[in-house]
Amino acid sequence: MSKGYEIETKCIQSGWKPRKGEPRVLPIYQSTTFKYDTTDEMGKLFDLEDDGYFYTRLQNPTNDAVAAKIADLEGGVAAMLTSSGQAANFYAIFNICEAGDHIVCANAVYGGTFNLFGVTMKKLGIACTFVNPDDSYEELCKAFRPNTKAVFAETIANPALVVLDIEKFARLAHEHEVPLIVDNTFATPVNCRPFEWGADIVTHSTTKYMDGHAMQVGGAIVDSGNFDWAAYGDKYHGLTKPDESYHGVVYTERFGKAAYITKATAQLMRDLGSIPSPQNCFLLNVGLETLFLRVERHCYNAQKVAEFLNAHEKVAHVNYAGLPGDKYYEVAKKYMPKGTCGVISFELKGGREDAVKFMDGLKLAAIVTHVADARTSVLHPASHTHRQMNDQQLKEAGVSPGMIRLSVGIENVNDIIEDLKQALEQAE
Ligand SMILES: *Cc1c(COP(=O)(O)O)cnc(C)c1O
Repeated sequence: MSKGYEIETKCIQSGWKPRKGEPRVLPIYQSTTFKYDTTDEMGKLFDLEDDGYFYTRLQNPTNDAVAAKIADLEGGVAAMLTSSGQAANFYAIFNICEAGDHIVCANAVYGGTFNLFGVTMKKLGIACTFVNPDDSYEELCKAFRPNTKAVFAETIANPALVVLDIEKFARLAHEHEVPLIVDNTFATPVNCRPFEWGADIVTHSTTKYMDGHAMQVGGAIVDSGNFDWAAYGDKYHGLTKPDESYHGVVYTERFGKAAYITKATAQLMRDLGSIPSPQNCFLLNVGLETLFLRVERHCYNAQKVAEFLNAHEKVAHVNYAGLPGDKYYEVAKKYMPKGTCGVISFELKGGREDAVKFMDGLKLAAIVTHVADARTSVLHPASHTHRQMNDQQLKEAGVSPGMIRLSVGIENVNDIIEDLKQALEQAE
């Protein structure tokens, strides 16, 4: 796809390119295998000498078309899809780290990522230092060690809604000669393209806005092609030295700018196998076609809802970077001038008890463990995701007992506000 098209056109047109007589709409290639005429033809595929499909764990035409669309939306050279956002973040790190290595990660990240990096990766011998992304550059530098291999952060943190100063983080990573990996799930490439600000790798939970209809769980890794792995000698030896499990291929020499993604596919996906189903990729693609329309409406509605809540007497505090006075208003204006996302968090003056009454009074907004859905949804962390914690522990985790996470949908905003209004009346 030409880099020249605008994001709206790419959402619709990138990816699937039918030739004469082929289906206009992306077909679901629900096939594990692909047929060849000679032994030699297939042998060349195993040697990575020829392009072609042979087994869906490695590549599938439906999945590839959707990966190509996401790569184009982010302005990257290539992408790989995974069966969940968790798998995407794991592979993004594991592709360049092994036992004995270390990463630096913003502490305001999705809970699943926090556990993955802080607990599970540690068991694999990969250490992680969590840093406050709002700290000064000098403070952040202290987290680096000689064995640090990557920096990780979210453009808009879920659920803390911290907006990342991407240029600060890119400089931090590059001065320490490591790539910046950014999870762009909440902003989506419609509102922010981290490669334009210096990020090297972007990840997504496609489960959220990209799908947008809560139909499939999926993930993606996009490679900008900009990080020069070969410039740092042995540091990224998995990319710059022969891969014995692939007939001695040297990824940086053979695949150039696509070295990182090719290794992720040829080695990690081959060995670990978190491939999304072609059916799910098809559904994801349907979501992507309207991403630009939905994101715009999510942001429009969330802005109105945030303003309504901010002015309401029973609301103690609202977190939304679109509100002037929000801690992240300025940084969001720089990196996401069109808007941030549809997720808001707010706090009721009446605390935990009132939050429960409010939630139970909602008629339109649904109580679900999900965000970034076309349908307005709501979650009370103290009663749900953080249920096992007492009030003191909640405070330490940055979650107050009265805090509510609201994912504003694309319904008519007046209906959403009416629903919130009547539920707030039921709170004390
Ligand atoms: C949901 C989410 C994930 C995890 O993705 P799954 O698709 O649920 O595995 C990772 N990062 C962010 C920012 C998320 O919101």
